[in-house]
Amino acid sequence: LPRMSRGLPKKEKIFGVKHIIAVASGKGGVGKSTASVNLAVSLVKLGKKIGLLDADLFGPSIPKMMNLSKNNEPDWDEKKSLMIPLVNYGVKCMSIGFLVKEENAVVWRGLMVMKALEQLIRQVDWSDIDVLIIDLPPGTGDTQLTISQTLPISGAVIVSTPQDVALSDAIKGVAMFKKVDVPILGLIQNMSIFSCPNCGQKTHIFGKDGLKKFSEKIGVDLLCDLPLDRDVCIQSDFGVPISISNPEGVHAKAFLDFGKNV
Ligand code: ADP
Repeated sequence: LPRMSRGLPKKEKIFGVKHIIAVASGKGGVGKSTASVNLAVSLVKLGKKIGLLDADLFGPSIPKMMNLSKNNEPDWDEKKSLMIPLVNYGVKCMSIGFLVKEENAVVWRGLMVMKALEQLIRQVDWSDIDVLIIDLPPGTGDTQLTISQTLPISGAVIVSTPQDVALSDAIKGVAMFKKVDVPILGLIQNMSIFSCPNCGQKTHIFGKDGLKKFSEKIGVDLLCDLPLDRDVCIQSDFGVPISISNPEGVHAKAFLDFGKNV
């Protein structure tokens, strides 16, 4: 995938896409895909034309989270020779999960991963998109580096819980984006606090303020500080992003505020 034409690979635009935002995390399970879908639907609410690319080839979550996992296969545009993204909640989506059945676990070598990724990026009709959100796989491996080096990313968002182990990997993410000259839009602290629905007691399950302190230290904005909320999980399993199911809630408001600054 990277055209290593001596020195740095060339950053090549995606036809029809004005801006790209990469959503990254150091660890899996911290809420990166949840953040990607909620940012996507919030930007649609704000009148933007949005695409969502699931770059996690080994654990694609976007089909389920966007309620596009059932018998959906993208059509092929003969004239353009491009796949047509599937659309829900006004977001044009593409994922390896639309092309490979869940039970056929993807066991690919590195080169095949890069080839599949290139197809999801270049052989899809991403025309007329204001912002393409790329939901990266967790960590700072080949895929993340290749995407950051070969696409003109306007900015990256890093999602983490406040917990030390998650945080130390998020720090690696910040370093990676800096190295490849991708501006960091900010950090999203997720699952920071849990309010018991019965007694109202608040608990910092994964620690307190870890990401907030880190963001202050490195001079990067803390974009959202999101509580742990059972509904986020339940609704997401039904394919409804929390910004849609509870538009007045803290999550929806936080993503809308962030979207306004994008
Ligand atoms: P990642 O993309 O980092 O692997 P996901 O977005 O898939 O993480 O989230 C992992 C799980 O945690 C999902 O079941 C999701 O619904 C849930 N989740 C994410 N954020 C929250 C939250 N703030 N409160 C409760 N559950 C959440």
